[in-house]
Amino acid sequence: MSKGGGGLANCNICGETYDEKTYQIVVPVLRASFDKIGCAEIALQRQLREATKQAALEETLLHEVERLREQLRELQSR
Ligand SMILES: [Zn+2]
Repeated sequence: MSKGGGGLANCNICGETYDEKTYQIVVPVLRASFDKIGCAEIALQRQLREATKQAALEETLLHEVERLREQLRELQSR
């Protein structure tokens, strides 16, 4: 039953509706709130996976940059 009063939010993990004013788990890093700790954990893990992907990408990019620098150095020394 709906209590009314407009404080309702939707958890974007499990899709359940909950009252933002009475109960919510706020995760500032994600700028989101959830109805259950479990949902917050799932969201955090998703975010972590994204971050890891980006870190891996960064490492690959750094490697490429280093390789290019070496090539440039070789060209310049000629
Ligand atoms: Zn949820």
